[in-house]
Amino acid sequence: MNLILMGPPGAGKGTQAALIVEKFNIPHISTGDMFRQAMQQGTELGLKAKEYMHAGQLVPDNVTIGIVRERLSQPDCQPGFLLDGFPRTVVQAEALQELLKTLDKRLDAVINIEVSRASLLNRMGGRLVCRQCGATYHAEYRPPKQPDVCDKCGGEVYQRADDAGPTVEKRLSVYEEQTTPLIEYYEQQGLLKHISGEQEVELVFQDILKSLGA
Ligand SMILES: [Zn+2]
Repeated sequence: MNLILMGPPGAGKGTQAALIVEKFNIPHISTGDMFRQAMQQGTELGLKAKEYMHAGQLVPDNVTIGIVRERLSQPDCQPGFLLDGFPRTVVQAEALQELLKTLDKRLDAVINIEVSRASLLNRMGGRLVCRQCGATYHAEYRPPKQPDVCDKCGGEVYQRADDAGPTVEKRLSVYEEQTTPLIEYYEQQGLLKHISGEQEVELVFQDILKSLGA
């Protein structure tokens, strides 16, 4: 299974990614991990990416795509892969298609986890985290037993600036702006699977499997 996973921040992508890679026994390839690995291994492309990142610049597409190529050429991708965080743009998606062709592979599906803006705001807007151990809570759905006190370590539970309403809204707008053309692109290719993320984790996963005919 050669898959791409998409979904806005707060849609539960991480949880579904873990279930998918376990089910199909394929590697989860997130952009962050891929870059980190290339830099640690000191590959030519990894070093190039590092230069751009240290200069606070965006890593250009040819470098990113080179790193994707190196990663997808590794033997653990033989049975398939789950790409997460790449591609981000139509240009990258087109480059990926070319790259897959040269590797004699092709995409099976693009899984798009859909959650309404209102639900995302609610989910992320209520996110709380322990200052000490990093345990997460939700003001409404999973509050700590004592207000503002971590159940696990007794540390202070607070809301990160990243999770406050206006910041969340901005992050969602940026995501929508960036990914709408990409979603349309994969829709046109007949690869897009619409999955409702507004249900229990297990049901979301079942819908994903169904959409893949698995
Ligand atoms: Zn804690």
